[in-house]
Amino acid sequence: MVRGRRKNSPFGSRFVKPRVGAARSTVTEPGPVAPVPAPSVPRTEAVGELRPGHPLADAAMNDRLHAFEQGFRERFAQLVPVLKEVHALQHERDFQERAQRIVLDRLGYQLPEKALEDAWINDLDTRELYLHGTFELFDQVVNEYWAGRDDLVAEAESAIAYFLDCDFHEVDISPCSDGRLLGLRRFILRLPDLAVRVKSYAGAQFDIEEDVRHWTKRELLRFREGRPTTADVPSRYLKIAAYHYSGADPLHQGCAAHGNSERDAADGALHQLRAFRQAIENTYCCGASVDTLLIGVDTDTDAVKIHIPDGDTRMSLYRFVDSAALYRETQGLDEQSASLRVYQAIQDAIHQQGWGRGNGAPHEGMLRLISRLLLNNISQLEYVARYHGGHYADVGHRERVIIVGQEIEEMQVRNFAYFAHLETMEEGSDGIDVGVNKIFRKLNVERGLPVPVVIHYRYDRKVPGSRERVEARCRRIRRTIMERYRDLAEKGLIGCHMVIRDKRSGSRLEPLVA
Ligand code: ZN
Repeated sequence: MVRGRRKNSPFGSRFVKPRVGAARSTVTEPGPVAPVPAPSVPRTEAVGELRPGHPLADAAMNDRLHAFEQGFRERFAQLVPVLKEVHALQHERDFQERAQRIVLDRLGYQLPEKALEDAWINDLDTRELYLHGTFELFDQVVNEYWAGRDDLVAEAESAIAYFLDCDFHEVDISPCSDGRLLGLRRFILRLPDLAVRVKSYAGAQFDIEEDVRHWTKRELLRFREGRPTTADVPSRYLKIAAYHYSGADPLHQGCAAHGNSERDAADGALHQLRAFRQAIENTYCCGASVDTLLIGVDTDTDAVKIHIPDGDTRMSLYRFVDSAALYRETQGLDEQSASLRVYQAIQDAIHQQGWGRGNGAPHEGMLRLISRLLLNNISQLEYVARYHGGHYADVGHRERVIIVGQEIEEMQVRNFAYFAHLETMEEGSDGIDVGVNKIFRKLNVERGLPVPVVIHYRYDRKVPGSRERVEARCRRIRRTIMERYRDLAEKGLIGCHMVIRDKRSGSRLEPLVA
């Protein structure tokens, strides 16, 4: 049974929320235990490009997101042409003043004086100017992000209320660090910036201990402050892991951390989710547990596969709803029939037989969240169809920077940055290695362009000494990176920009001098 209802939603104005009845299946047998090897995980076949125009898409939100994406990209697209212009002027008489004026007018920052002064000796150091310019523009887009966005807090509060309505008091997402997933929250899943926690790790191999600590912190807040629910409310903590694959070029443009194998990427993420739940259950007794959800993203189109948990909260690589198939199937329907079909697709997945068979349906809140995510993603597919011809032109890597440290929620434009969440260099070095060695050596170094690395951490101004400790940590990580990639550092082919800021949202970046 479905009762659609509309209300103003944090997820967009055309919100249709199917309330799913307690459709618990009576199937109790476990999945088939067959002696034959499992079939390969079904891959999404490209069935022609997605066409624009879908009854469930939020066109107004798509327009806003497109304006944001365009503005962001255009700013960075200016950098190389302007630097070329500066380069061409270096032997002119009033070079320094002219160069400064051009850069200030066109890009809004000042070139480093020393680099200009020394240009007559050994020519202009364009690698240094490229790094400097990338970092200046980076700071600009982050610092400007919050201007005039007073709606962000209200949007987040509304989303948190919605999650609670689905029985979740926390939504915590770990995607792969791959830059093509950078738009996961804002674009692909259409979730508000401040309502969900996102931490990226190479291959979605998130840090279980750290997440157990975060879970504990959330429980403490519920106990002590009743935020966002009191501890006696049986709401849950939801952990989502997002792996990725390429529908168009699965052998080359998949996940670098998993050798481009979709199956390995999905399996790796699922394994991590299971281990996290096990960790919580083993560490805290008395029914402590978490809900988990596995999502696959086709980085060519932003389509998702949502793996539906069963009544025992177990997921299977074979049981999912594919949003691209759903998009095509519902495109010609009216709005009501299309949203009903979304609900039915979830039910079909739940009741499937064979390898994907599970033990009944997940709880009602989970079903509602899944249908919400599918509907949100349909808007994103419409976006990709309308503004990118149904398929991204850059199916491969096109990242401009590597971000190391803590998440920068202002950076959510696809393929803009490779993001490696990092607490300590010892634990996080694999993630940076994938970024530098597997991605940026090919992307930048082979062309003689340096690898820009932004190191970002937050401090807590309420905690004495926190800023100093975070500053010291940034410097430590910078030293380790320059040491680790010494072959690049010696040729000026890698550069680090250290930025810290207060942990409250919307605070400005405070660059540290190296
Ligand atoms: Zn990946």
